[in-house]
Amino acid sequence: MLPHERISAKLAKFRPSLTLMLKRLAGERLEKGLPVFDFGLGETKGHLDDEIREAGIAAFREEETMYADPAGMPELRRAVLKWLNVELHYGIDNVVISAGAKQSLFNIFLAICNPADCVLFDSAPWVSYQPLAVAAYAFPVQVLPISRADSFLKVGPEDLRRNLKMRPHAKMFVLNTPCNPTGQMYDAAEVDALLTVCAQHGVYMVLDRLYWRIVFDGKTFPEPRIDEQTRPWLIQVDGMSKNFRRTGGLRIGWTVAPDDVSVAMANLQSHYTSGPATPTQRTALAAISRPYRGGMVKELQEKRDLLHREATEMPNVAIWPTPASFYSFWDVRACFGKRTPEGKVLTDSTDVAEYLCVAAGVITASGVGFMQDGYLRLSFATPEDHIIEGMRAARKALGALA
Ligand code: PLP
Repeated sequence: MLPHERISAKLAKFRPSLTLMLKRLAGERLEKGLPVFDFGLGETKGHLDDEIREAGIAAFREEETMYADPAGMPELRRAVLKWLNVELHYGIDNVVISAGAKQSLFNIFLAICNPADCVLFDSAPWVSYQPLAVAAYAFPVQVLPISRADSFLKVGPEDLRRNLKMRPHAKMFVLNTPCNPTGQMYDAAEVDALLTVCAQHGVYMVLDRLYWRIVFDGKTFPEPRIDEQTRPWLIQVDGMSKNFRRTGGLRIGWTVAPDDVSVAMANLQSHYTSGPATPTQRTALAAISRPYRGGMVKELQEKRDLLHREATEMPNVAIWPTPASFYSFWDVRACFGKRTPEGKVLTDSTDVAEYLCVAAGVITASGVGFMQDGYLRLSFATPEDHIIEGMRAARKALGALA
């Protein structure tokens, strides 16, 4: 076997996920004693809620460590229906619990796509969508918002229709709202228009709503229409990772999907994970079985406002509003062609991200990872003093470009 044949041609091309690389970069600077203002990672911080922690501890104490239903504990699946307020439309057989929303997405691609089927994504696809689709032998395609030039990268029904016309093998459209990385949220009419196009064309709409509780300014997430027309085509993805503090590592996600798709995904899980760890399913049950507490969302809104205040008139940058999620999205195209004090000309978002890291210790995520060169993503789920000092450091560095 030749060295290049040791790994499959497909996986040999994979690179580690962008977020993990950022974690390493931040760690390297800290080891050297350099200041780091980490806006890179998409993770909530703070303390794990007592009830969530105690539920996990109790599960271990009571030795709840044997195999459970591969589709997830029935009581958790029932709680998911209530959490998403869809009990009238679905039963627990429509819910599959998985090891994070990533696995939920992979389950969907594996359950639905034949080799070379096309998966359409919205215009700033979250970093792992494409690798997951490719790993499922599907062909990823980004839908660009041609019909809506000033829409903060939100795609419209015309954009979707055009792509569906060109791609007869399209099986699904993945819509992420609130969106990682742009921080935008589609309103009820926008979601409905896209869902209607999917149902009319007989393709699935995968609604990744992982950030759906983190909506600001008194607004709420617009629930998708579920009726005879849409139910066969709507798949919702959600989970524990974002809407609570410090829960990304619990690795619990779920889907609510039509009967046949759920059966296929449960069958698949029965062969490769037997469902996620039972103690963490218990933590999820504790988290979603009680009324949602809005403290974290309130704090994040204050951090968003702080970042916007501190970043007012940031040189060479246009900052987008953030109606939801915990991401600030920066248009940095004005930096392109400018020279750093060391004489390097910045030509893409990754150059700008690297420059901000090296010159200011400000860690951001390059838009290149989200197929949107020209932008940076900053997570403001970070302490206030980091936001204040980080914005000052960024202002100095960006102001030094010539
Ligand atoms: N979908 C989106 C939009 C995300 O931002 C993430 C994680 O960052 C995921 C899915 C995966 O979530 P999980 O950590 O639950 O696997």
